[in-house]
Amino acid sequence: MNTIYLDNNATTNIAPEVLQEMLPYLKEMYGNPSSMHTFGGQLHRRVEEARAKVARLIGAEPEEIIFTSCGTESDNTAIMSAAESLPQKKHIITSRVEHPAVLNFCKHLARKGYRITFVPVDKRGQLNMDEFRKTLDDGTLIVSLMYANNETGVIFPLMEIGEMLKERGILFHTDAVQAAGKIPIDLKKFPVDMLSLSGHKLHAPKGVGALYVRKGTRFSPYIIGGHQEHGRRAGTENVASIVGLGKTCELAGENLYNEMTYLKALRNKLETALLKLCPDARVNGDTENRLPNTTNLSFEYVEGEAILLRLNEFGICASSGSACTSGSLEPSHVLRAMGVPATAIHGSIRFSLSRYNTEEEIGKVIEIMPGLIKELRNLSPYGRQKL
Ligand code: PLP
Repeated sequence: MNTIYLDNNATTNIAPEVLQEMLPYLKEMYGNPSSMHTFGGQLHRRVEEARAKVARLIGAEPEEIIFTSCGTESDNTAIMSAAESLPQKKHIITSRVEHPAVLNFCKHLARKGYRITFVPVDKRGQLNMDEFRKTLDDGTLIVSLMYANNETGVIFPLMEIGEMLKERGILFHTDAVQAAGKIPIDLKKFPVDMLSLSGHKLHAPKGVGALYVRKGTRFSPYIIGGHQEHGRRAGTENVASIVGLGKTCELAGENLYNEMTYLKALRNKLETALLKLCPDARVNGDTENRLPNTTNLSFEYVEGEAILLRLNEFGICASSGSACTSGSLEPSHVLRAMGVPATAIHGSIRFSLSRYNTEEEIGKVIEIMPGLIKELRNLSPYGRQKL
């Protein structure tokens, strides 16, 4: 049975071109980029080429890119750097719908005496701007807001927020792990001080990420040791993965607009058909401002996990916002923050597409889902009543 992989916001396959580019650095080119000899020196050059490619994707300068081990490290580093650089400021602003890489790090800092404001979102998952404006004060150290949400794909109005923060001289970090390479980002125009991205969300391997730090931003390293990354992130460089990240960013930049159009059409086809063919279904999140590859759907009166298990029997991979299957014991904090009714949270499924998905695959999901939902509703002891 062929796998139909529609869980690309969780992780992606490594693009064949990326793997090809990486292979020499896992085999014969194993030197250390910090070595004086030519064998190592050539690796240093490849790391710098990759840095330039990552920078190009987001409109940054190469020296503004620091390689890290993942999106989580980039997020933690950005916030910790702000805290170390401006120790007199103790107020951090973020949103209720961030990824745990930001949310739990802020909770950790709260235990160390920081005041954290978690800005609410409305029922579309959009930031409550009135609340946001009210939370800014003279003690605000940093605002950390995601570019696009991993569960719903909702894109925050960061341009407006960036302008506001720039005027007030408040540091601004964005977690762009889901956005980078999926929608255009131009840091020449977008006033943000730090931005996180991650390789495995855009067809590079797991275990590599990057943090953009705007020139002139005070920076304090999180991982301390050797002088790598100009003293900004210690540890011998993961050359193969860094080369892979560079290649993937190059490909993403070259194909961005075509890919966005392709994915949006495919996602819309899936979404429109499921809403039409499955009664009591809804889309969660702002459909106007959304990543082109993501749809978060709720099917009332049925458990998301049950849907996932049945889809799994057909080789279809998706994820749910309900409970254990998403690796968490709690129903989705994102959907709860949006005020999605409990019954709809329990029946929520996220499909996240990539350029490797085909019309045929989407057609198969459309063919299978309506019958599957009906069957599960009939099996459910709750029938069509509320859970
Ligand atoms: N931020 C967002 C929005 C994510 O979706 C993820 C991963 O799911 C992360 C951060 C963490 O990235 P990584 O898995 O590279 O640590």
